[in-house]
Amino acid sequence: MAKKQFKAESKKLLDMMINSIYTNKDIFLRELISNSSDAIDKLYYEGPEGMSRDDFFIGIETDFEERTLSIIDNGIGMTKEELEKNLGTIARSGSLEFKKSLEEGNKSDVDIIGQFGVGFYSAFMVADKVTVVSRRFGEEACWQWESSGADGYTMFESAMIGHGTRIILHLKNNDGDTNYDEYLMDYKIKSLVKKYSDYIRWPIQMEVEKSRKKEDGEDNEFETYTEMDTLNSMTPLWKRAKSEITDEMYTQFYKDRFFGTEEPLRVIHYSVEGLSSFSALLYIPKRTPFNFFTPDYDKGLALYSSGVMIMDKCKDLIPDYLGFVRGVVDSEDLQLNISRETLQQNRQVKSIAKSIEKKIKGELAQMMNTDREAYEGFYKNFGLALKFGLYNSFGSLKDDLQDLLLFYSSTEKKLVTLKEYVGRMKDEQKFIYYASGADVEQIERMPQIEMLKEKDYEILYMTDDVDDFLMRMIKDYEGKEFRSAEDNDLGIEESDEEKQELQKKQEENKELLAKMKEFLGGRVRDVRISSRLKKSPVCISTDGEMSVGMEKVINSMPVQEKAHAQKVLEINGEHSAFEALRKTFDEKDDEKLRVYTSLLYDQAELIAGLPVEDPVAFSNAICGLMK
Ligand code: ADP
Repeated sequence: MAKKQFKAESKKLLDMMINSIYTNKDIFLRELISNSSDAIDKLYYEGPEGMSRDDFFIGIETDFEERTLSIIDNGIGMTKEELEKNLGTIARSGSLEFKKSLEEGNKSDVDIIGQFGVGFYSAFMVADKVTVVSRRFGEEACWQWESSGADGYTMFESAMIGHGTRIILHLKNNDGDTNYDEYLMDYKIKSLVKKYSDYIRWPIQMEVEKSRKKEDGEDNEFETYTEMDTLNSMTPLWKRAKSEITDEMYTQFYKDRFFGTEEPLRVIHYSVEGLSSFSALLYIPKRTPFNFFTPDYDKGLALYSSGVMIMDKCKDLIPDYLGFVRGVVDSEDLQLNISRETLQQNRQVKSIAKSIEKKIKGELAQMMNTDREAYEGFYKNFGLALKFGLYNSFGSLKDDLQDLLLFYSSTEKKLVTLKEYVGRMKDEQKFIYYASGADVEQIERMPQIEMLKEKDYEILYMTDDVDDFLMRMIKDYEGKEFRSAEDNDLGIEESDEEKQELQKKQEENKELLAKMKEFLGGRVRDVRISSRLKKSPVCISTDGEMSVGMEKVINSMPVQEKAHAQKVLEINGEHSAFEALRKTFDEKDDEKLRVYTSLLYDQAELIAGLPVEDPVAFSNAICGLMK
């Protein structure tokens, strides 16, 4: 019999499809099962006489000898013309036409997932020959279509009893990359159905081999037998009413589907009806995945269309800063083009993503308000992700995220929100003060915060690298600006007396300070008598935008040009060390003054957590004092 050729463009497409669009061979089964499910939907919708809902099924059969895998359904089937039209032209999608005709008749209560037009051909990824035997419901004739790939297909009349379609895949021979034999194994088929087609709403049945104790036999005598099993659970958990679902069921699903090792911190299960209708079942994990803050981590939610999984991890459904959320989204009205695997920037997906982002943020805010302890647990794990989200948004997420942030408070000795801080600010307090360092203990010891502490101002302790940058980006909260404790302008009103005193001291020591500045060369912008130091001899403060913390972070990265904060060496005018400086200056002992200055500066750097420029010189200078 002469082979019919595929329509021209089909050849190319077929080849491309087999070789590149679908990289994951396993999905052929999902495609064929979903076609069968569509075919049953179509017939069920017609309301065929003598058939009830329970009569429909999808069957899977394997034949080891022939190396064939068959997918069978008692759906609507295809006429000769339909076989030719649907399977002879790759880009044509029968489902799409069917849906259109339904819509025109305003009977769009059947949702059909197969709007894709290439699904069937994925069979050629695992089979070198595909046979389709089909009989349209209500027709006498049964037709057989057969093809070995891009070289065309043959058609002839065949014999088949019931209506529906049987797709027979003649599996390819094993090669170095793939063991095609696996597709004949019960365990493989079961796991593929579970993974991709669990929620197909018609039963997917297969005869599976089981073993049981022999009836009249001894205790250890077993026999094997086969039994028809339904492999899929048919109703997705996320489509069930919340009232029917127990916490255990949610947790079990989380463990099965997302390899969670413990129960999740929070479950969010909701549906939206409207322009883009969808159901979502989302999980916030209790712990940070081990690779969460590395480029290896794959974010994404599983995307389903009417119970059929389209994509395991759809990145577009969730913003990076919520990348720790795991879950499933199911939408009936997703319009997909060429392949289910390459879901493009799709308007519906975007609108779903927006809704999900809002929902999760709302849930977090609620958790913070009603269960602070749980929220703090969450924040310890994922607070950094929120901070990065805010920072990377260049401020556009400020209103959304600033109220979800927590910082350690110097006065409360626990994590507080910005709202709580601002609510407690003193009347005359101009700024929201913060200090950054490696940890709470280190910040606690910082000389820069001595004055703020003495004045009893609350200080937020920032211990993440990103914090300093973040504060400069969000700038203010409820009209109050953030101000680093090391900033030269802390906005504190000093009494005229204090001011005059400081000015006098500054004036009296002008030459000393100038000399020290000269000795330090370009390392500092200025040397000043401090108004903020109460106990410590020296500290470094900064003029301008960049803080010491930022300098540290930037220079710890492989940057081309080192960052330099504009540092100011502040000296405590009341400290004995200052007296020693003064004395040395009055004695005109420049060499000693140079050593003292350098020692004090090195100390200030050490206190600020910066590396000493020349540790050997520093050590020699100290030993010099011991003589
Ligand atoms: P899609 O399912 O995206 O429309 P396919 O290439 O998978 O594209 O299938 C093309 C068409 O062939 C389907 O739209 C459908 O009309 C028909 N078809 C495929 N499989 C079956 C089946 N098991 N029963 C009836 N018709 C089928």
